[in-house]
Amino acid sequence: MSSSSQHSSKSGSFTSRLASVFKSKPGGKKLTKGRPDGCTYDAGASGSVRQLTQSTSKSAQTGEVWNETEMLHSLLRRDSNDSLASNNKRSNWFDAGVNRKPGEDILFRLPQGLWEHIVSYISPADSANLAFSCKRFHSILGPGPWLALDLPENHQYKVNFLLPMDRLYPDHLFCFPCATYHIRIQKGEERLKHVHTLNLIYNCPNPKQQSKARITPGWTLPFVFVQLAFRGHRYGPEYGIPLDALNRRYKCRNSEWTHQVRYHFHQGHLLLRVVSTCFAESQLPPSLQRHLLYCREDYTPYFSVCAHWRDGELMNNCKCALDHIPPYKETIARQLQKGPQISLALRNPNVFITLCQKCRPMRRCPECPTEYLVELKLAEDKNDPDRLRRFKQAIVVTRWSDLGDGTSPDGPEWKACITEGDTGFDSFKSLTRRGLSGTFESQSGVTIPGQRMMSLNPQNEKKGEEGHNWY
Ligand SMILES: [Zn+2]
Ligand SMILES: [Zn+2]
Ligand SMILES: [Zn+2]
Repeated sequence: MSSSSQHSSKSGSFTSRLASVFKSKPGGKKLTKGRPDGCTYDAGASGSVRQLTQSTSKSAQTGEVWNETEMLHSLLRRDSNDSLASNNKRSNWFDAGVNRKPGEDILFRLPQGLWEHIVSYISPADSANLAFSCKRFHSILGPGPWLALDLPENHQYKVNFLLPMDRLYPDHLFCFPCATYHIRIQKGEERLKHVHTLNLIYNCPNPKQQSKARITPGWTLPFVFVQLAFRGHRYGPEYGIPLDALNRRYKCRNSEWTHQVRYHFHQGHLLLRVVSTCFAESQLPPSLQRHLLYCREDYTPYFSVCAHWRDGELMNNCKCALDHIPPYKETIARQLQKGPQISLALRNPNVFITLCQKCRPMRRCPECPTEYLVELKLAEDKNDPDRLRRFKQAIVVTRWSDLGDGTSPDGPEWKACITEGDTGFDSFKSLTRRGLSGTFESQSGVTIPGQRMMSLNPQNEKKGEEGHNWY
């Protein structure tokens, strides 16, 4: 069965024809509207697939004869160009009672072992779909297709077979590590929480294998929330959560950084923007710059980054931007209080700072769909008791990412954003000239000032933690 891909080319038009015939009702989905009758699907139970078949076979009986007739016509007249409409006509003619024969008999008249032979050419997911299509095929193929799906090496086929049923289970959520549907234990109330807070979406025996994207220290976006947002968006509120429920604004627990996280759907993809802000003093020595930028716990930046932040210019650009912060405004009288030396420039330092050619351009990570912009902004620090110094420069690091279409944690965009190693993603080929930042901001009617787009890693050096640029 594992050689099905090799065989498919050999087998030629017959199997492809077969596939197209069976595809018309994958998983018997079209036979039932909504949840199958009497479906007591406990996703946690092993062998759940078999359980599913048994419970749906009853409702799957209606309309089977027509489908099988159509199927057999397609099979028997391989070289004819008869349209589906003509098949339909013929079927109606049969229905008129002239010479109606149940399709099941015809199925059984085919030579013994033919279906087993056919199944040996198609993938485990396709043979399970075939067995699931009607009671007859189920009895012909036996439990083999279900047993095959449960084999560890067929994990991806099991995912491919079960995932299209997503729409049938508003109360469940598909778990990729387990390849099964788990029941949602806080249906509709699922909310993102700090990583130190227990936040179970379902009871899963493999919680450590759940895919998640790091947002900022203490905050992640587990893939289940991407699933929930997409389901709510695609199928309705019963299936997931509104996208707005993911948006957040919070202050870091261990630092002075504040974060604003927003999401947007754009052409079937989930876009993320994180704006991280922190007040910064002027003329910080390197050690204090590091203190400002890096989380003490794991030496990752306090702001939001993709998995490739260590390579390239991101951290250098932040430090360069910090170097541009001018000293505080000080009157001559105030300067004289400190000592005899006075600086006329300090009376009126420039408050609107233009960054240099190195740290001003927008940067795009070449390894994943992520863009960064480092800025300095004048903002009011309401906590500062010195009223003259309340308006301060703050470093603002904005990250935009495309998190993919939410179908799987193996999707190219999601995987590229969270994987440190090479995933083969080329962001300069994949993204349009407008860039993620432009696309995201245009949705809220904001146009960001035109910035040159440069590579985050112009030298394309991939040293990760071993490199020298990141700290
Ligand atoms: Zn699970
Ligand atoms: Zn600079
Ligand atoms: Zn990246």
